[in-house]
Amino acid sequence: MKLLIIADIEGVAGVCCREQTVSGNAEYQMARQLMVEEVNAVVEGAVRTGISEITVIDSHGPMINLPIDNLSPQAKLVQGKPRALGMIDGIQFADYDALMMVGAHSAAGEYGVLAHTINSRAFLKVEVNGQVMGEVDLYSSLAAEFGVPLLMVSGDDHLKAHVAEAFPESEYVQVKKARGAYAAESLPVSIAKELLSAAARQSLLKRHQPKTAFCLESPYRLTVSSISQAQSDLYALVPGVERVSPNQVSYEAGSFKDLVTLLNSLSAMSASVP
Ligand SMILES: [Zn+2]
Repeated sequence: MKLLIIADIEGVAGVCCREQTVSGNAEYQMARQLMVEEVNAVVEGAVRTGISEITVIDSHGPMINLPIDNLSPQAKLVQGKPRALGMIDGIQFADYDALMMVGAHSAAGEYGVLAHTINSRAFLKVEVNGQVMGEVDLYSSLAAEFGVPLLMVSGDDHLKAHVAEAFPESEYVQVKKARGAYAAESLPVSIAKELLSAAARQSLLKRHQPKTAFCLESPYRLTVSSISQAQSDLYALVPGVERVSPNQVSYEAGSFKDLVTLLNSLSAMSASVP
């Protein structure tokens, strides 16, 4: 059995403000340590089921956050960007059996600690077939196309409510309660780690079938709301992307692989307009 773990930082217990998510800040050093501790707890729980291979994908910002010298020796680490499938790049290279998302967060436009989708400077909201979608929805739907089910997610209470609706069979570990976009009440680190470890083990024991978010079916109509009108001007230059309104573009994708690849391309492009 092979497990893939996507590691983000915004949904980790003890993380609630931007300074903690950007390298160069003193607060970031503590946050990346908390991030690796939560990942290690998940790895530890998974190992107890006798799993043969675990790959951790560093998926926050420049994707070089997890200190490899503190990562469990039971896991391999994928780092750096750009990568073909963004946060989940690597899924195409091996027959993985399960996906878990640690330190995850709510979608852009939704309530939640540090809520955003892929790039807070590029997207105000991302919708697929009328449903607001965040990173958990997009990447685990892509994983489903590779036959890999989302077994477990961790983050705040708002994401918990969303996951219960979009992926009712997946385990969820709430490690904090949102008190605002940049404020949270976190569990003690030791308790969060215990819960993560237990849920990782439990979810592997009752592994379920892969599903797209909300059980959506192809074709997928992607609607992207940009931060500025100029960004939509730019996004509409991509062949196949249609202009819908001053701050919106739309695209029809046959797969989440295409849809996510387009979003990551738009995200990279967005930096070129003010
Ligand atoms: Zn992140």
